Amino acid sequence: MRLLASLLTLAGLAAGELTAADKKPLRALLITGGCCHDYAKQKDILKQGLERRINIVIDQAHSDDKSTKPPLPIFGKPDYAKGYDIIIHDECAAGINDPKIIAGVLAPHRKGVPGVNLHCAMHSYRSGDFRKPVKPGADNGKWFDYIGLQSTGHGPQQPIEIKFENNVPFITKGVENWTTQREELYNNVQVLPNAKVIARGAQGNRKAVVAWTNNYEGTRVFSTSIGHNNVTVADPRYLNLVARGLLWAVKREDMKLVKPINESFDLNSKPKPKSAAGKKKHQN
Ligand SMILES: [Zn+2]
Repeated sequence: MRLLASLLTLAGLAAGELTAADKKPLRALLITGGCCHDYAKQKDILKQGLERRINIVIDQAHSDDKSTKPPLPIFGKPDYAKGYDIIIHDECAAGINDPKIIAGVLAPHRKGVPGVNLHCAMHSYRSGDFRKPVKPGADNGKWFDYIGLQSTGHGPQQPIEIKFENNVPFITKGVENWTTQREELYNNVQVLPNAKVIARGAQGNRKAVVAWTNNYEGTRVFSTSIGHNNVTVADPRYLNLVARGLLWAVKREDMKLVKPINESFDLNSKPKPKSAAGKKKHQN
């Protein structure tokens, strides 16, 4: 009996320790802002959706600026990832081409901070002749080296049929193929050598890789080019995919992933009253 009691105590302690480790939330920084998307809303959908699914606390680095050169609060601060386990890039900074700024954005990832990249992040930080295939390591290829895929544009907004492949089993476990509502299919100029395909998308005759991983100098990076409209971003299937990609990127495949039932989001942005507009360029 005494032996059994000791074993139970040991087991209890072990379980207790595990729970304590599991209780420590991941820390993430979500970067949003720039052209062409409802980031004011999407930043909250992503924060809520991911915090409901995994043990994570998401801080937001957001700019309300709608240009292709949004003054994101991370610019000029190469240590912006300090204290975070992962950075989620959801910015649309297509016109930011200053090599110094780009080097600063990449700095934490070069040092080993994993990344998740969504939709227009793929079309950000472009310089030089980015429409032709860039060579790995080229001056204008540094962002693509990190992303693992080069894309330059998209066609019309139409549903995308998404089909998963089993190259990184943790990410696709329990994930089912689905067809989006109106979405943008980002083209593939090239898929770089260290990338692994997670999903392919088809929009009529147009086909492209729409989710993938990258090994960036030993650092894990997960990306999906899906995510233009709020209705897609708030789709539980999208949020489940991003949550799984994130856990894989931070090597926390052990962490519990909850699938919320009947979750809802506020999808519609209300226009701001005129007096308040433009007053607050940056929100935490
Ligand atoms: Zn878009």
